[in-house]
Amino acid sequence: MHRFDNPVDEQNREIIIDLVSKKFDLDKKSLDRFKGILYYPDIDSAYSPLLENDLRARFRMNRSLEEKLDLGWEKFQIFSSFIKDFNITYGNFKANKLQEGKSVRRIFKFIYDYYLSSHKGLSALKTDIKPTVSEYYIEDFDEPESRAFLSKTLQEIAGLKLPNIDDMQIVLSMNFADWFMSATKETWNSCFNFESSWDGIAWAQIPGFAIDKNRAFLYITNGHRKQYLNIDVQRFVYRTFLMLDDSDNINALRWYPTDLFNGDYKGFPIKLKNIDYNYKPKYNIDYLTFKNGYSCYAYQDHTKFDLDNTSSLIYHQKGGHFGLNSKNEIVQGSHFMFVGTLYDLNNSSKTLMDVTYKKCFNCGEQIEHFDLCYDVNGNPICEDCRENEYIICYDCGALVKFEEAVENSFGLFKCRSCHDYNTRQQI
Ligand SMILES: [Zn+2]
Ligand SMILES: [Zn+2]
Repeated sequence: MHRFDNPVDEQNREIIIDLVSKKFDLDKKSLDRFKGILYYPDIDSAYSPLLENDLRARFRMNRSLEEKLDLGWEKFQIFSSFIKDFNITYGNFKANKLQEGKSVRRIFKFIYDYYLSSHKGLSALKTDIKPTVSEYYIEDFDEPESRAFLSKTLQEIAGLKLPNIDDMQIVLSMNFADWFMSATKETWNSCFNFESSWDGIAWAQIPGFAIDKNRAFLYITNGHRKQYLNIDVQRFVYRTFLMLDDSDNINALRWYPTDLFNGDYKGFPIKLKNIDYNYKPKYNIDYLTFKNGYSCYAYQDHTKFDLDNTSSLIYHQKGGHFGLNSKNEIVQGSHFMFVGTLYDLNNSSKTLMDVTYKKCFNCGEQIEHFDLCYDVNGNPICEDCRENEYIICYDCGALVKFEEAVENSFGLFKCRSCHDYNTRQQI
C-alpha cells in the first residue's frame, strides 16, 4: 500500500474514500476498485518517474511563462501610451520600478502624473481606454473621473498581479485529492465544483476518473491552500487534465479558468501538446459503475466515448457528458439531478441515488430524472403510467389520472378543477 509521508495526504485519502463509500452509490465491485487504486496507485511510466512521495511533481516557473500567466500585466496593457512612451517591460511592472537617469520612479505612482498632469495626458488616457469602456462613459471624462478610473483600475491590477515568482509552482499531480478538488473552492467555476449550482451535478462522477490510466492533472498554484469537507489541497490558479496517447504524448485538455497557452507550450517544464482529432488513448477504460448500472465517468472536455468501442475515448471538439447505461448504450447528459452541494449531501442521511431518483407515485417504479413528470398534484409519475393510465387536461395541460379526469360533452378530458371552473362560468 502506498504510504504518504505527509499526514494531510493520508487524511485526504481517508476522507475521500469515506465520502465515496457512503454517498456516491458505486456498486460494490466498483467501490473496491476505487479504493484499490487510491491505496495502490498504478501509474504509467510517462508520469511516474517525475513524482515525489505525495504523487506530485513540482516545477519552478520561469520568467517568460510568468509573464504569460500574469493577468495583472495583461490588464495593465490598457495603458498603452504610458507603456510605449517609457518602454515599460514586464520586469518594470513586476518590480514597480522605472529607472530614469539616476532616479527611480514607482510605476504605480508615476502613472498618475503621466495621465493627470497635462491636457495631453488626459487625452492619451481617453484614447487608451476607448476600446474597453463605453463612449458615454468617456464623454465628460475630466480630472476627477480620470483619477477615480486610474485608482480603480490600478487596484484591480494589483489584485490580479501574480505573487513573487518563487511562490508560483507548476504541479503535475496523480494525487487523487487534487483531482477530486479540481474545481471546488476556487475564484472561478466549473461543473466539477461541489458547490456548483448546476443540478446535473457532474461532480458525482469524478470518482470514475481514478481508474483512467491515461489521465493526469496539472495545475499552477500560488501555494495558497483550500479546504472542503476537511480535504486540504493547494489552490489551483490554473488547471487542466492531461491524457496520454498511444505514442506516449501528454495531451492537455481544456484549461480553466482560461486557456493560457493556445497550444504553445514553449518554455513549459513538461512536454505537452493540446489534444487534437488524432487522439488515440494509450489505455482502454473499464469504467466504474453505479448501483443502477450506469457508468461513472465525469464530464469530458475534448473527448467522448468511441461509438465503435465504448471502452475507448476519442477526440471531441467540445466535450460533454457521456455515460453508458446498464445495457452498455451511450447516453448523453447527466444522469443525476440534485439541487444541492456535496456538503448538503454529507450533512443528510441520504445518498446520491436517494436524492436524485424518484419513485413513481402510481406504481412505485424508480424514475430516472430525464423521465420525470409530475401529475396535477405534484406527484412524480413514470413514463409507463403516464402512457397507460394518465391523460393530459385539455385546458391546463396537467397530467391527470384517467379515472379522475372528467369528460365533457365534446369528448374532451379535463382535470377536476378545470372542469369545475368551466362549469361555474357557464352558470
Ligand atoms: Zn408508474
Ligand atoms: Zn386542467
